[in-house]
Amino acid sequence: MKTIIIHSQDLSLAQKLSTSLKGELEQRKRHFRIHTSNSFNLDQLRELNKVDLNLVSEVFNFSEVKLLVSDMDSTLITIETIDEIAKAVGMSNEVAEITEQAMQGNLDFTESFKKRVSILSGVNTSSFEAVYNNHLQLSPGVPELIKFFKSLGIKSAVVSGGLVYFAERLKNQLGLDTFQANNVEIDNNCLTGKVLGKVIDAKEKAIYIYELCDLYQLKTEQVIAIGDGANDLEMMKIAGISVAYQAKPVLQKTCDIVINYSGLDSVVDFFDYDF
Ligand SMILES: [Mg+2]
Repeated sequence: MKTIIIHSQDLSLAQKLSTSLKGELEQRKRHFRIHTSNSFNLDQLRELNKVDLNLVSEVFNFSEVKLLVSDMDSTLITIETIDEIAKAVGMSNEVAEITEQAMQGNLDFTESFKKRVSILSGVNTSSFEAVYNNHLQLSPGVPELIKFFKSLGIKSAVVSGGLVYFAERLKNQLGLDTFQANNVEIDNNCLTGKVLGKVIDAKEKAIYIYELCDLYQLKTEQVIAIGDGANDLEMMKIAGISVAYQAKPVLQKTCDIVINYSGLDSVVDFFDYDF
């Protein structure tokens, strides 16, 4: 017997799916569950019905979750911040393709980051503020998800392969506990094109989870990690549960939870409460 969560409140869709799987339908406040012994292909069902479907884990206990670690660009927010800076200064063509290739996992992240920052050499930091104020939007369901986690006393952190400026402001805006991101050299309010210190790549994101677990006295199994790009893969591997949000194919294949159609607050559906 398996339990599928339908991250939707569409009753007719839930009934249709339940019938096709010869399952028993259960209605929760903000989603449906199907209990079935039938075999099924989850990817096909998702694609066919354009709805988020995920299995209820038989081993993972969501009440054990004590820390959320999330990627920033294209995860908590809808944009790639470095691409938006490049766009604002007319260098989109040079930068956006490098970002895309890095997120697909086709380029070494550290090299790609250094290259992008060097292309942006001379850019005034006032463009950061303009991008944050005018172009940065939270992904759907983010405020609700953070509020929910806070109500359960779950700590939260944003870890980003982007710039400190954005991660720190986002941390403050959402009221997260902490953040980690990249430092770049700034002189006379302009980027010099140099990166300061280590670049937060896939490996560093995973190390950050270990550091936070040390700090908060937690096990890595108590961490829920959310991301969308190839540079989130390493932290997904060590987290207790991993969420691929509108993610690159490489993540959709390996993560425990896949969300493509609904907001990030769909994660709430896994917690064993009748919301
Ligand atoms: Mg991302």
